[in-house]
Amino acid sequence: MQTAVLGSGSKGNSVYIEMEGVHMLVDAGIGVRRVMKSLKEIGVTPDMLSAVFLTHEHTDHIKGLGPLMRATQARVYTRPGTLSALPKKDELPDRLGVIHDTMKLGPLTVRAFSTLHDAADPVGYSFSAGQAKCTLATDLGFITSSVQAAIEGSDMLVLETNHDPGMLKRGSYPWPLKQRILGNRGHLANEDAAWALVHMRKRPEKIFLAHLSEENNRPELARETVERVLKEQGADSLSMDITVARQNDMDVWM
Ligand SMILES: [Zn+2]
Ligand SMILES: [Zn+2]
Repeated sequence: MQTAVLGSGSKGNSVYIEMEGVHMLVDAGIGVRRVMKSLKEIGVTPDMLSAVFLTHEHTDHIKGLGPLMRATQARVYTRPGTLSALPKKDELPDRLGVIHDTMKLGPLTVRAFSTLHDAADPVGYSFSAGQAKCTLATDLGFITSSVQAAIEGSDMLVLETNHDPGMLKRGSYPWPLKQRILGNRGHLANEDAAWALVHMRKRPEKIFLAHLSEENNRPELARETVERVLKEQGADSLSMDITVARQNDMDVWM
């Protein structure tokens, strides 16, 4: 099981996951050259990629999709609603598929779970094989009970810590944008991510805090908030390896 967050934040998102010899990407929001360069650094060549799963159609998750598809033979899977909402779909290679709730990919079970976010049909993904489970949950307006259930039991979790509400409210964003981010269909606050971790019965071995706002968050603040809330609630964070994923650099767990 390997994970590499190739880049995470409002300017572009893509996460590499390997399980049982299956190599995948979740989202294609960063340039193909950077994706290939990062993958090469961890020994992954374009021909090894078998699938790309898209969470939703916002630019920061799909803007590199066309070049990525042309540079690999990977099949692309997403919800039907997202597929319909993809821009310039006709120009993409004919390797687009649909995932409703679950599908098999070789030895893996892939599950798409709905999230509250202002897109056509947004999802997070979990990948499991036997007892092992990796989950990605970003672009969450709110942790619903089904998202909470979907992240449970993950060994590796990529979880959104988008903003600090105080920084956001004091910051320079226009009020409608502040409202969108703070709302139930926007992005997840640091503290809400921390509570999702508190509520897990089995906490992950590895967590990437992801999709941080460059304007309304700081990496240290995201980490401190998560660690503080876990401590206050008597939940042990010491057994968890926490990495705050960066926008412009790769963060690897293997
Ligand atoms: Zn989005
Ligand atoms: Zn996003």
